[in-house]
Amino acid sequence: MRLAERVALITGAGSGIGYETAVLFAREGAAIVAVDINEAGGAATVAEIEATGGAAIFVRADVSRAAECEAMVATAEATYGRLDVLFNNAGISHTEDDDAVQTSETVWDLTMQVNVKGVFLGCKYGIPALRRAGGGSIVNTASFVATLGAATPQLAYTASKGAVLALSRELAVVHARENIRVNALCPGPLRTELLMKYLDTEEKRQRRLVHIPLGRFGEAAEIAQAALYLASAESSFMTGATFLVDGGITAAYVTPE
Ligand code: NAD
Repeated sequence: MRLAERVALITGAGSGIGYETAVLFAREGAAIVAVDINEAGGAATVAEIEATGGAAIFVRADVSRAAECEAMVATAEATYGRLDVLFNNAGISHTEDDDAVQTSETVWDLTMQVNVKGVFLGCKYGIPALRRAGGGSIVNTASFVATLGAATPQLAYTASKGAVLALSRELAVVHARENIRVNALCPGPLRTELLMKYLDTEEKRQRRLVHIPLGRFGEAAEIAQAALYLASAESSFMTGATFLVDGGITAAYVTPE
C-alpha cells in the first residue's frame, strides 16, 4: 500500500476530487480526515471509507476561517496522532464570476477567501503538524486556468488559482530542508458539478472539448491518482512543481478534429 500508516487531511472531501481522493488514499492505507462545509457530503465520504474497512473521520470546517482550520489540524493529531499529508483541495467557482467590469467585489472577495486564504490557512496550521511528524507532503489544488487565459472569463477564479501556484512554489522552497514537499496540482476541465453547472448544454460542452486533445473531460478519479502520486514517497524528489493533469489542453495550439 502506497500510504500505509500515513494520516491525510483532505479539504473539500465531501464531493468531486476530494471525495475520490479520500476513498483512494484510504484504500492505499491512509487514515483520512475528511474536511468540508457540506456535512452530508463529508459524512457520506466517511461512510464509504468505513464500509470498505478504512479509517476516516469527518471534521466540519470552513477553510476560510482560521479557528476552524486550526481545529481541523488539532483533530487530526488528536485522533490519529500525526499528520503526514495535507491536501488543500476545497475551492469554489462562483456563477457570477466574470470579467473585471462585471465581477462584483463580493464575488472577488469570496473567491479569494476560500481559494487562496483557505490554502494559506491550511498551510499555516498544517505545517507545524507536518514538522512534528518529521516532514510530509502538501498538495494544493490549483487549475490549468492558472497557466492559460480564457475568452470566457472567470477573473477571480483564475487569479485565485494563480495565487495558489505562486504560494505553493514559495512554500516548497522555504520548507524543503524540513522534509516538507509542496506541489500544486492543476486539473484540466473535469466532468464534475463545479464545471458542468456552466457547461449545461451539449453545444457549450462541445465548444470546450474542441480545446482538449484527448477529446473528453477528465474524471475526478483521474485527479485523485495524481494526488496519490504527489502524496506518496513515489514523488520524493518532486517539490515546487506545477503538476498539470489536463488532457493536453495546455499543450495544444490546434487540436485534432
Ligand atoms: P466540488 O464542488 O465537487 O467539490 C468542492 C468541495 O469543496 C465541496 O464538497 C464543497 O462543499 C467544499 N467547499 C467549498 N467551500 C468550502 C469551504 N469554505 N470550506 C471547506 N470546504 C469547502 O469541486 P471539485 O471539482 O472537486 O473541485 C475541487 C478543487 O479542484 C477546487 O479547488 C477546484 O477549483 C479545483 N478544480 C476543479 C476543476 C473542475 O473542472 N472541476 C478544474 C480545475 C481545478
